[in-house]
Formats: sequence, C-alpha cells, structure tokens
Amino acid sequence: MSFIKFIGTAGARFVVTKQLRSSGGVWLSVGKTNLYIDPGPGALVRCLNSKPKLEPSALDGILLTHKHLDHSGDVNILIEAMTEGGFKKRGVLFAPGDALEEDPVVLKYVRNYVEKVEVLKENSEYRIGEIQFSTAQKHQHRVETYGINFKTSPRTVSLIADTKFFPDLPHLYRGEILIIHVVRLKPVVDEPIEHLSIEDVKSIIEKAKPKLTVLTHFGMTMIKAKPWAVAAELEKESGLRVIAASDGMKIDLERDLEN
Ligand SMILES: [Zn+2]
Repeated sequence: MSFIKFIGTAGARFVVTKQLRSSGGVWLSVGKTNLYIDPGPGALVRCLNSKPKLEPSALDGILLTHKHLDHSGDVNILIEAMTEGGFKKRGVLFAPGDALEEDPVVLKYVRNYVEKVEVLKENSEYRIGEIQFSTAQKHQHRVETYGINFKTSPRTVSLIADTKFFPDLPHLYRGEILIIHVVRLKPVVDEPIEHLSIEDVKSIIEKAKPKLTVLTHFGMTMIKAKPWAVAAELEKESGLRVIAASDGMKIDLERDLEN
C-alpha cells in the first residue's frame, strides 16, 4: 500500500521542545519503497511505537529538507537503525549541502553506513526505488532549505517545507496532495526565523488549487488556535479541501481525495 504517515506534527522550538505535539516528520511509502522525510526528535521511538509498527530497517532512504533540529534531530540514529547498526551498508541520504558541510547535522562516521549520500540542489531530479522527486528553487529560510515535488503514483504529493513566503512559491508545488509546513497563525513582520502563516497558505492554495491540502508542522499560535478549526475555516473560505494533520495520521495515496 502507498501512504503518507505523519509521525509528528510539531514545528518550531516551543512546540517541539515541550513536545506539545510529537516531532518526527513524515514516512512515505510508495509500493515497496520507504522514505523518511525530516526525522525530527523522537522519530525513531515514534516509528517503533506506531501501530502498525514502522520498521526503520525497512527504509530505503532518509531526506532532510533542511538542517534545523526539528527536521533533523533523529537523523543519525535513524541512519543507524536503517543500516542495522551500520552493519548493513544500505540506503540513501538526501540532504542540502549545508547539512553536511558547515556545522553538519549528520555525523561523519554515520555517513559511511549508507550506500550513498545525495546532495540536494535547486531544480534537480532524484529517484529512490519507486519514488521519483524533484526540488524547486531554494526556499527563503535561515539555512539551505528545499521543498519537494514527489511524482508518486497514483497521487502526486508536494511538500512545502519551512520558508518565508515569496511570490513564486504558489507556482512551484503542484502535487494533488499539498503538505504545507505552517508554523504561524498570523504573519509576523520581519520574523527572523522565516515561516509561513495561514494567510500565506491561503495565497498558495488559491493559486495551486491542490485536490487536498494538509497542514502540519505547527507552532504555538497554530496549536492554540486548534489546527483542525483553522483548516475547516480555510476550507470554507477557499472552497478547497483542507485538513490539519494530527500525530499518527495516515493518508492512503490510493484513496479518493474528494471524500
Ligand atoms: Zn526550519
């Protein structure tokens, strides 16, 4: 079965460090290929505790959209789990150059465990098993960050990782399912960390018109506003299907998106 499972839906420092929601990113399975995206703190434990259990040794790859800790905290231990303690050289790590070079989040000795490290770059195509994906232009975020377009079947999926809003953004991600990291309820002028707000999400989906928008990676203001209520309001305003992810939520990629 092909599916996306939201291991964790916490975003930004407060929600992650207090674990008001789990952090841990997303598990994507397409056919027989398993890819972990943004293994934040707790990813390993949440995988093993999830029902049914997700087995990290079944992973074919791990992808970091960027090196911030809420996206990468468990990357080293997950590589170790994927490679059965480093004894089975296997899997691919995809990460932006700055996650590997300056102040790296992936330990050097752990890099030897994987079969291959692929550096993410702008507007590039990648493939791992049955999952083909591409990056768009670099996001506007403190560190090198990419969103992803997954050319998966039967549904295409796009993921907009952390970024400040920029005019091209609504045109870059055209997946039928659009996952958006929305940290803030309201925009913050000159915000130093650079994240999307619900207002930005509205501009994006009104142009991109995905069949299903999934909000995740919530900061404190989103948690307080109840993400499901915010999603329902957005759905009413936009006339598009919008849901808020919850920890452990699974989307079957074969399901009819209208229901
Ligand atoms: Zn970030």
